[in-house]
Amino acid sequence: MELKKEKAVKQMNGTSQEYRNFPMVPRVVFGHGSFDQLGDILLPQRRHSEAPVIFLVDDVFEGTPLVQRIPSIFCDRIIFISALEEPTTEQVDALVHHIGEVFSEAPAGIVGIGGGTLLDLAKAVAIMLNNAGSAAKYQGWDLVHKKAVYHVGIPTISGTGAEVSRTTVLMGPERKLGINSDFTPFDQVVLDPELTRGVPKDQWFFTGMDCYIHCVESLNGTFLNAFSQSYGEKALELCTEVFMHDGSPDQKRDKLMMASWHGGMSIAYSQVGVAHALSYGLGFLLGVRHGLGNCLVFRHLAQFYPEGVALFEQMVEKHGIQFPQNVCAHLNDQEMDTMIQVAMGMTPLWENALGPKWRSKIGPEEIRAIYQKI
Ligand code: NAD
Ligand code: ZN
Repeated sequence: MELKKEKAVKQMNGTSQEYRNFPMVPRVVFGHGSFDQLGDILLPQRRHSEAPVIFLVDDVFEGTPLVQRIPSIFCDRIIFISALEEPTTEQVDALVHHIGEVFSEAPAGIVGIGGGTLLDLAKAVAIMLNNAGSAAKYQGWDLVHKKAVYHVGIPTISGTGAEVSRTTVLMGPERKLGINSDFTPFDQVVLDPELTRGVPKDQWFFTGMDCYIHCVESLNGTFLNAFSQSYGEKALELCTEVFMHDGSPDQKRDKLMMASWHGGMSIAYSQVGVAHALSYGLGFLLGVRHGLGNCLVFRHLAQFYPEGVALFEQMVEKHGIQFPQNVCAHLNDQEMDTMIQVAMGMTPLWENALGPKWRSKIGPEEIRAIYQKI
């Protein structure tokens, strides 16, 4: 009652401001070989032998020794999934349907093992097991009302911050958009840098740059606050050490894993910006993957992020990264318009990047000009 009164008084005085109260991953284990603790971690969640733990695993690990280390017991199931395409709402619906058909009992847990693609799939499946209808219905902000099934995230490549974020990004029938909700974050994350050993160099760079771009966009955004800044600055420092300085591969794996976490925390309390808005357009129309798409766009954003782009180019050169050329060259006007529409639809990203009057600062023609350079 008192609180309500206080709020009303604040509103009358025009001083009312609602601060976000966002959930964080409540449990995390970090360390080389920590993956082997997974069995013990899952044990208290197991209700009985008929309630399975379902492991959604990137199929790049099929037939590798990692699979032998997955603590699958009773009627648990390992489902291998390709990460060659980013997750779709249709795929989530199909997995939920499959799980419902095969098991008589609701799963005791969902464990995602892989990059952003598998982590997002695990989050979405865990949510949709307890929420009716298609995953497409929940794309947006705070549309989920029932708690997800217990879910665990185990990244095998670092950068997206999907292990810590409050969203699961899905390609839907109408849009590429996340299920952003308080029930999306993992209940448990296992950070074992050893798991990132086999990542191919280009992919390491693209996903790592996703983290770098999260930092640049967060630190240069209008939503910045001390909370985001503290995480963003640390992540940026770690990215610079990983991509610009020397160090042992082990140290670099550790640092990039922590950079990913901190970068994710930074945008959790701020927002991403121009590169992500335009990258969503590329992803929606052309299926360009998130990390690569961000890089392709970011190179042409010196007007927005001059220092960030300059350092990015140094990193590209240091690692001899080659990008595909003329990605948008063959697009007709209608396709270009679709991409522009998708990009411009990302209102919070533009508001963060350019402020509430962003529409007076950028329009379809400026965005078209950037896409034409890619
Ligand atoms: P990814 O999961 O798409 O994987 C990229 C490639 O790396 C795949 O071919 C995969 O098989 C391979 N790979 C992963 N781990 C490997 C390993 N240890 N060894 C060898 N190969 C390995 O990559 P990503 O960049 O981590 O994720 C991109 C996805 O993340 C996109 O779908 C994007 O929308 C999403 N994303 C989500 C968030 C979020 O907050 N939820 C944030 C950013 C991006
Ligand atoms: Zn990103």
